[in-house]
Parts: sequence; structure tokens; C-alpha cells
Amino acid sequence: MSANTHAPVGFEALETKGWLGSRRYLLLRRASQLFFLMLFLTGPLFGLWIVKGTLAGSLTLDVLPLTDPFVALQSVFAGHWPSAVALTGALIVLAVYLLVGGRVYCSWVCPINPVTDAAHWLHRRFDLPKGWQPKRSARLWVLATVLAVSFGTGTIAWETVNPITMVHRALVFGLGTAWIIVAAVFLFDLFVSRRGWCGHLCPVGAFYGFIGKTAFLRVSAAKRSACDNCMDCYAVCPEMQVISPALKGAPGSSPIILAGDCTNCGACIDVCAQNVFTFTHRFDQSVVEPPLKSAPEQSAANMMHKE
Ligand code: SF4
Ligand code: SF4
Repeated sequence: MSANTHAPVGFEALETKGWLGSRRYLLLRRASQLFFLMLFLTGPLFGLWIVKGTLAGSLTLDVLPLTDPFVALQSVFAGHWPSAVALTGALIVLAVYLLVGGRVYCSWVCPINPVTDAAHWLHRRFDLPKGWQPKRSARLWVLATVLAVSFGTGTIAWETVNPITMVHRALVFGLGTAWIIVAAVFLFDLFVSRRGWCGHLCPVGAFYGFIGKTAFLRVSAAKRSACDNCMDCYAVCPEMQVISPALKGAPGSSPIILAGDCTNCGACIDVCAQNVFTFTHRFDQSVVEPPLKSAPEQSAANMMHKE
């Protein structure tokens, strides 16, 4: 429910921008997630091998290697230096995410995202309690533990339990038991901890959050003076703590959301009826001020203020 208007979250955006306008980035994200999935599925399903492998490591058109840099890092910690091809693939992926934002992986590529988004949607719809909310630093501890276990066991530790890899393998190769992991993540986010998995525990998100700190592509609260404090952006943001410095910062502060945890999902852009947010680059510090009032409007405003 919107904090000021008491309308359901997203209702004002729906009224002012229409169904499509208030879901633009959500639809694009779902299309992107489906696109990346289908790249891997055309081989097993139709014999058309555009991409071979999984999100952990793949070869596109038998030419382009792509490796999850987190997998490559675990491999190094495990004492196995990646092959030249795997290393090249990791550097390519790293370069892309350094440009567009590390956690773009979370919101635009990861197959777990629709699952956690669905849990969050139901969570809001049934107005369930927040539940267990470990500190966001918990995922950093999980990340450190994963690297320590890789070091200690000589294995790529997280890949043995990683829900992302399991779901991806299940979809690509049809391994039925992986659905249990999907269900566990869904139920955990729905009943145990709101936004618990991606927001508090997933070490992959924590890793990509580091990469995202210096990314070029950013969301800006450029029209923040138009904000009417409905709080809908906070309600839909998977990492709501990233919004305030840009939206509620002191006059003259940067309108750019600079936190590495921002997933560049665009949900805040979709849901804001006042069109406060926009995609831009990290060096764009421009702030759109509201148009100056005409003299009669200003004196009417002054009169009201005196009353
Ligand atoms: S930025 Fe937009 S969605 Fe967020 S509180 Fe302000 S008006 Fe509401
Ligand atoms: S600030 Fe906006 S783009 Fe960033 S994670 Fe939150 S909703 Fe998504």
C-alpha cells in the first residue's frame, strides 16, 4: 500500500502511465531472462546449438567463451588455475558487468529471479510479515565462507549447491530433483524471510555487487523534487536501502544511485507515477527542477501558506 495515498503499490503509476508504461522494464527483464534461457535450450530441445554449457561456463557458436567470474574465482581459490579459454570467458563477462552493473546479472539474467520476484509479489499481496531479516552483510560472510571452503577442499564449492546452476541444469538437461531447490528458495522468501535469498544470503549477488560499484550504467533520481513520498519505489525495490542517498539526499547531493547492490532492474522507474527515476550514466549529475510557478500561482500558493 502506498504510504501517502493508501492506494495499492503501483496503482498511481498504472493510472498515469497505463498498463504497459508501468511495466516496461519488468516486461523487458522477463524477455531478457527468457532470451538467455532459450539460448541454452535451443540445443537440447531442437538440436540447434547456439550455446553449449550452462551459466557457469559456455561456448557460443563454438567461438565465444563465457565464464561466470565467480566460478573462475572459486577455481583459483581451489588451486586450479582456469584454462586460457575459461579465463578469457571470465574476463569478457567481467568487462560487460563492469559496464552495465554487476547485479544486472541478478535481475536480467539469473533464472532464480522470476522465482524470488513471484514470492515477493505474493508476500505483498497477502501482506505477510517481514520475517527473519539477517543483516545484508550476511551474504558477504557466505561469500567468504564459499571461498574458504573452495580453498580448503580444492573444489568449486558453491557450484555443488548453487540454486542458479541447479535450476539452469534442470531446465537445460531436465534434472527433476533440482525443482526441490527452486521450491525451497520460493518458500523461504515467501514465509521465512522477505527478499531473503537474493537480498541477504546469495553469495553470487554479493560477488556481483562488488563488480557493480564502478559500473557506468546507473539509475538517477533526476526528478527527485517531484517526489510525493508515496514510497512505492521502496516497496518494489529488491535493495531498498540503495534509494535514499539519491532520492532523499541533501540539496546538491548526487541524484545517482551509486550502490553496487542496485540491480538496475528498473522497477523504481516503472512504479513511480511522478517519473522521478531514469536510466543514465554515472557521471550525469543533472537534476530536473520543477517548472517555476507563474506570478498568480505563486501568490495563490503564498496566500494558502499564510492561512
Ligand atoms: S520517487 Fe516516485 S515512487 Fe518513490 S516515493 Fe517518490 S513519488 Fe513515490
Ligand atoms: S534502485 Fe531501482 S533499479 Fe536499483 S534495484 Fe532498486 S528498483 Fe531496481
